[in-house]
Amino acid sequence: MANATILQPDIEFIRQIKAAGGDSLKKCYQCATCSVVCNLASENHAFPRKQMVLTQWGLKDQLLADPSLWMCHQCNDCSTYCPREAKPGDVFAALRSFSFKHFSFPSFMGKALANKAALPALFLVPMLIIFAVLLSSSSGNFGYLFHFTGEVDYAIPFPHGMLDAIFVTGNILVFFFIAFSLLRFWKGLKSNDPDAKGPGFIPAVIATFTELGTHKKFNQCESEKSRYLGHMLMFYGFIGALTATALNFLFTTIIKWMGSPWYIPSPVEFPNPIKLFGIAGGVAMLIGGWLLIRLRMSGDDDAGKSDYHDWLFLIVITSVALTGMLAWILRIIEIPILAYFDYYAHLVLVFFLLWYAPYSKFGHMFYRTLALIYAKSNGIDKPRKL
Ligand code: SF4
Ligand code: SF4
Repeated sequence: MANATILQPDIEFIRQIKAAGGDSLKKCYQCATCSVVCNLASENHAFPRKQMVLTQWGLKDQLLADPSLWMCHQCNDCSTYCPREAKPGDVFAALRSFSFKHFSFPSFMGKALANKAALPALFLVPMLIIFAVLLSSSSGNFGYLFHFTGEVDYAIPFPHGMLDAIFVTGNILVFFFIAFSLLRFWKGLKSNDPDAKGPGFIPAVIATFTELGTHKKFNQCESEKSRYLGHMLMFYGFIGALTATALNFLFTTIIKWMGSPWYIPSPVEFPNPIKLFGIAGGVAMLIGGWLLIRLRMSGDDDAGKSDYHDWLFLIVITSVALTGMLAWILRIIEIPILAYFDYYAHLVLVFFLLWYAPYSKFGHMFYRTLALIYAKSNGIDKPRKL
């Protein structure tokens, strides 16, 4: 007698995927049109048909360990052509959002970031920490903040030393939390049994970073090409702004501390190349954010559904760029009351973006990178011969 396979569906998992945008899941009748039209599905690892049925069956562990989830760029070609109006692109997005919660360390943070009701408390933490900086630098005397004209110096209410200490400590902590979360994810990926041989780890790392850097896969999708430009601008804008911040920290803090003559005595001013770099990054992020928000607001079926994770990440990262640019403009035109309020909001948003990165959609860049490295090193994502 043949051995029977007993499936143990996770009903709560199915409910959560449906609630997170995968509500069309049950419409799928396994015709496989989606796997045929998906330009990103690989030769030996077609998706998303198989993952649709695995999700219907609630096979959570098998799905979350599947690198295909991260090889998908939610172009929604599959959803466009599905004869049953099931939306595999949205189901994949819901599965990816579930991954942030599932692999997160500490796990309560993953649950908090996935829960709308926890949002005020999540914002309250950075608001209180940054307010404590303001309180200690001002000794309770806030009068100088409420002027409508005059010079703006952010270092008075928000001293660099205090901010650096908070952000550097926090970022080190976040780095370890990300590493723990990704270790869990990597173990899951390795539970797969790849049926093909790949080029090995180092070539896979090089190929992954080349693919991410060029956004090549975004361009292979048919239905929704406008995400390519928006995502590209956001991606490089963020890298530019982050690099400018790091260089600013290097020249004004580390080099000063070392007593080097290269120390720049004031925050890097326009038209200093570092400042120009930061401004270019901020502008690119703003344009990219606006393009992506406009696309999601269009309600166009090709754009796919936007869940809570999508909106939270997009609004926070675009607001970081907006408040950062405003902080620069308001300092130049010298409106202290608006400048200080805006800078406070900017610091709170930066804190939110970076410190909650492993648990929000921001985490997708770590998970996708790792999944692509795994897929490439094991020969899972060989391009399909058409
Ligand atoms: S999602 Fe749609 S296209 Fe894909 S297998 Fe199911 S019914 Fe067919
Ligand atoms: S959304 Fe696009 S990339 Fe993802 S499975 Fe569908 S067709 Fe493929």
